[in-house]
Amino acid sequence: MKTMTESQTWKPSHFNVTLADRGRTLLFNSKTARILELNAGERAVIEECFDGLLVSGTCPNADLLDCLVTLGFVVPTGVDERQREKDRLRETKAGEERLFLTIAPTMACNQHCSYCFQRNTEKTKIMSAALQRAVIEFVRSKVGNSKQLVVQWFGGEPLIAFDAIVSMTKAFQAICAERGVDYYAEMLTNGMLLTPERVAALPSLNIKALQISLDGMPETYAERREVALPKADAYYRFLVENMQAVVDATGSVTVRINVDKENIGEARYVVGLFKDHGMVDQRLDFRLGFINTSRGLVDCVPHDCFTNTEFADEELAFRHFLAEQGYMVFGMPQPKNYPCTAILRNAYTIDPNGAVGKCIPAIGTDQSAFARILPDDMEKTLADTAAAEAPYGDFDPFRSKGCEGCKLMPLCLGSCPKHHANGERIVDCSMREGLSGKMGFYHHFHKRRAGRKDVPDREPGPGSLRQDAFE
Ligand code: SF4
Ligand code: SF4
Repeated sequence: MKTMTESQTWKPSHFNVTLADRGRTLLFNSKTARILELNAGERAVIEECFDGLLVSGTCPNADLLDCLVTLGFVVPTGVDERQREKDRLRETKAGEERLFLTIAPTMACNQHCSYCFQRNTEKTKIMSAALQRAVIEFVRSKVGNSKQLVVQWFGGEPLIAFDAIVSMTKAFQAICAERGVDYYAEMLTNGMLLTPERVAALPSLNIKALQISLDGMPETYAERREVALPKADAYYRFLVENMQAVVDATGSVTVRINVDKENIGEARYVVGLFKDHGMVDQRLDFRLGFINTSRGLVDCVPHDCFTNTEFADEELAFRHFLAEQGYMVFGMPQPKNYPCTAILRNAYTIDPNGAVGKCIPAIGTDQSAFARILPDDMEKTLADTAAAEAPYGDFDPFRSKGCEGCKLMPLCLGSCPKHHANGERIVDCSMREGLSGKMGFYHHFHKRRAGRKDVPDREPGPGSLRQDAFE
């Protein structure tokens, strides 16, 4: 009987990466995210197969070849994998299947975080009723060709504008119901204005993912956010007691613990707090937040930040800790469709003054703003926002020096477009940092969990905007 690989010639995938982790060899393909753990003998057999493919396009061990093709480590000789990725990104950028909106209904905040990139932005009031109506009209006009509307509520602190969120959501839901468009939302919040009533309202707002940030112990939280300690204590008590309800209401909660060298030990304290309360839900995602200057976010604050390498080491140790404590460990590198929504034609940020931009953390500034929502002139609004020269629209990681030709490209697609200028990467690549240890961890973590039916094996959906704002 003919095997599936007999009828054509083959070559090793461009996206194969060999990683060495504590004496093990891991063969990883960044396009399929498959990993093979090899001993010395197995590695020699595969290398021999790859060498043969490079010479003749075939391998005498047909079963091995079939297996490598199935897992994506070997591809047909005629396929230009890099070109295929380039084409895919170009199509995704131009796609209209989904309309992504990040809306800051206010830039006001009830805290004053020492590391916040919006620390010095003007604290506007809540988006006016007229502008809210115009945003709704904008959605009505824009969503026509899409199958899904995805809104991320951002700020400032979005919960300050809870009533505006409720009324805009109702309008979005009505538009989507009328047009047969799917709708869901996510929210980034410091969480302090959550109440049991607001938690109960989350399902009616279609909020499917919530990210809350912490800084370690309540004392550190109070100090770094300039809130009174009794208030911080009360908030921690509320969170611990209500986290299960928040997870049940949304289906996905990320607790981001922002760390530098001073408070890194306190990340374990946060996890312990929830564990002691019996909260070991597999939909709860603990992550370390990297306080650093790489995106120009913290350039004036006296934090003792980690380097990329140090942070990668801390993250790995934290992943092991989470696994030991029985938590799901999210964040396994996976192939992406786009590096962030900033490069997508059908994605916009809208600030409370109606400025339309592209980069989510830059909301409320003029950094990526390129148009305005004009309550009195929707026609001009639509024309301006459709501008071909929107910021980051021409971002092409495949032609950026330092990334071009990279074997990890499908995992990050060049990462943040702001890390590139004049055709080259200008910020150190953090994806490569600690990659062997990271892939080794996830390989074994998912293998161990493979028998369990009650937990997701990979990232839970939807998380479409997760990468932009949650990382
Ligand atoms: S990844 Fe995208 S959204 Fe995030 S900072 Fe960079 S450009 Fe902005
Ligand atoms: S950001 Fe790093 S991992 Fe990603 S393509 Fe560039 S060099 Fe490769």
